[in-house]
Amino acid sequence: MAADIDCVVLGAGVVGLAVARELSMAGREVLVVESAEAIGTGTSSRNSEVIHAGIYYPQGSLKAQLCVAGKHMLYDYCAERGIPHRRLGKLIVASTPEQSLQLGAIAQRARLNGVDDLYEIDGAHARELEPALACDAALVSPSTGIVDSHALMLSLQGDAENLGAQCVFHTPFHAGRLLDTGEFLLQFTGSDAMELTANCVINATGLSAPSVALALHGQPHQHIPKPYFCKGSYFTLSGRSPFSRLIYPMPDSAGLGVHLTLDLGGQAKFGPDTEWIDGEDYSLDARRADTFYEAVRRYWPALPDGALNPGYTGIRPKIAGPGMPAADFVVAGPSTHGVSGLVNLFGIESPGLTACLALAQTTRSALMQTPHLA
Ligand SMILES: Cc1cc2nc3c(=O)[nH]c(=O)nc-3n(C[C@H](O)[C@H](O)[C@H](O)COP(=O)(O)OP(=O)(O)OC[C@H]3O[C@@H](n4cnc5c(N)ncnc54)[C@H](O)[C@@H]3O)c2cc1C
Repeated sequence: MAADIDCVVLGAGVVGLAVARELSMAGREVLVVESAEAIGTGTSSRNSEVIHAGIYYPQGSLKAQLCVAGKHMLYDYCAERGIPHRRLGKLIVASTPEQSLQLGAIAQRARLNGVDDLYEIDGAHARELEPALACDAALVSPSTGIVDSHALMLSLQGDAENLGAQCVFHTPFHAGRLLDTGEFLLQFTGSDAMELTANCVINATGLSAPSVALALHGQPHQHIPKPYFCKGSYFTLSGRSPFSRLIYPMPDSAGLGVHLTLDLGGQAKFGPDTEWIDGEDYSLDARRADTFYEAVRRYWPALPDGALNPGYTGIRPKIAGPGMPAADFVVAGPSTHGVSGLVNLFGIESPGLTACLALAQTTRSALMQTPHLA
């Protein structure tokens, strides 16, 4: 008997929607099933909306490859579809002569990733570009930009639906199992509670991806990572932004540091910081502003007292915990776990928004892999 649906994509964040579009373009029948009431209510609407250049990631990593490829694809896609975006450029700012010595290594790493447009400027030149900035030196990244993530997701959804895909909401995946026929039997709760069979399952459930994988029986557990949640808080700036480019301090081990980003309306926000948490808790502790004032004043000493207002938080879906080396994106298809028709996407933290179109292509290729003989 044929399966009810060819491909089920679990999760309607930017990655699930990009995968749904990609599979639909390849002529597959696609059903996107989302637990929330709408697209992109998770990490995809709780981020910096930055189109990253691909600077920091280890050479050869999926993050490096898919960020750089995804950036070009995303700029082209936004231009083609009229999705609001701007190539503002960013400055990576060294506050001290010691930090300035590290800029060369960052530029070198970027070159290895295929990002060869970075150039270093001294503090005086940086102040010509951004008069409010205090720094010893800076790296300019011209290809960094910003995008309206919701407009992007609406466009991805529209493309997929125009090609026949369907999306259902309020319908959490509950459990499933691999049948002897090689199909998946999937159970959903919520308003569209249902049970159906599918040839393929793509698990793009972000923070929930490891627990969703554990609930989909028939795959080996050793390939399912332990999830770690790392919250990032944002504070918005009252009044006009003194900067016209994105301003980033030197990166640290868990993130890119408290940076300044601008939205398409010109509103400045600072963040995200890093806070390891146990569950999906999006509350924002206004007392964290104290550390923001300190961090921001290293590159913008004139930040007025009282100018920061609590904004929002997002949670990085990490698969490496505090003190552990940073993990790469994991696109685990049949050659990883041995199950035909199943792809799990784990650890899709930043730059997942930038990389979404490239991640979707990689997911489609992974789906075609021959199962390994474990
Ligand atoms: C603080 C922060 C800042 C970031 N900044 C940037 C940036 O500037 N640039 C960039 O490129 N990237 C950035 N990222 C990363 C980027 O936001 C993510 O990589 C991307 O949004 C991940 O998309 P996703 O579709 O995988 O996950 P999500 O958007 O989380 O989507 C997963 C979906 O699955 C659904 N779901 C969960 N469980 C179930 C279930 N059981 N059944 C059905 N559906 C389910 C959820 O409701 C959700 O809608 C940032 C991330 C964070 C946390």
